[in-house]
Amino acid sequence: MKNSSKYQRMLMCMTCGAPVPAAAEAGTFTCTYCGAALRARAKRTGPIRFPADDMGIAPEKAEQARLVSLRKQAEHDDGSSPYAYNNVPKGLEYIHEMSSGDEAFLPAALSAFRMAVDRCESSNCAFNDQQAVFWLASQMRSACIQQGKPERAQAALANAYDLLEDPGFLQMTACMLAMTYLRGGDLASAEEQLGACEPRPALLEVDTEYRWSRGTLYLAQGKWEEALDIVGDEHGDIPYEGSAVFTFNSVRVAALERLGRADDAEEEMRNLLEIAESEYDADHQLLAKMYRGMKHWEPAAEVLKRVIE
Ligand SMILES: [Zn+2]
Repeated sequence: MKNSSKYQRMLMCMTCGAPVPAAAEAGTFTCTYCGAALRARAKRTGPIRFPADDMGIAPEKAEQARLVSLRKQAEHDDGSSPYAYNNVPKGLEYIHEMSSGDEAFLPAALSAFRMAVDRCESSNCAFNDQQAVFWLASQMRSACIQQGKPERAQAALANAYDLLEDPGFLQMTACMLAMTYLRGGDLASAEEQLGACEPRPALLEVDTEYRWSRGTLYLAQGKWEEALDIVGDEHGDIPYEGSAVFTFNSVRVAALERLGRADDAEEEMRNLLEIAESEYDADHQLLAKMYRGMKHWEPAAEVLKRVIE
């Protein structure tokens, strides 16, 4: 589908949830599964623009100031950021309480998504309405991947990406989209999607999501130095948002391993396992599960195997 000139993307049918190929332009099309008539927005293209934060200082000093600010945000992170995946928007607690592996989850999430999109359209993208669209798209993404429906995950994210306007929500969604492309082996689309992102965002959640996504794509591209550089040489070099603890630190382990620094890779893996156990009550099995079937995680999986033996 991605090589076709007419159908340039997958969108989600808002009636049945099926992924449906669509042209890049705005228009109406018919769902090939349920026959519903669907309206599509034009495919969003071009860079995500954050408001200019011109402090009138040299780029290098600005970058230092940004890192100081990110570190402060990490120290005071209480999970209340609207960009945090585990911050459930008001009124959607019932979705959060359902199990994402449950058969009833996707229909319920789709119905909530449909309402959230309607609200977002009629409020001209009020911030809270955008948060609901973003959060529901992220939940549908996880459930679809878990249920072996990666095309649906991609389609749900694409619908959200064309609608959202806040640069923070857009960048979070772009990173999720890039990672679903990567999962499907489409590195070129992943690169294009991350290319639209701001590499130096001011918000911790947005920065963390970008760093580990970009780092993961670097791993898939065999760019070990670049991967290590974006997550830092050692744990603590670069602050990150806690819910990304596994992916963020695994990028470092994999890069160190492929750079021939096996001892450092093992040390970082031991450190990661310790944090996982003490702060998240998780063990090596969760990591092994995350790495399974993912070529870019192979080096990290090798290190994990050595460390737990
Ligand atoms: Zn349909």
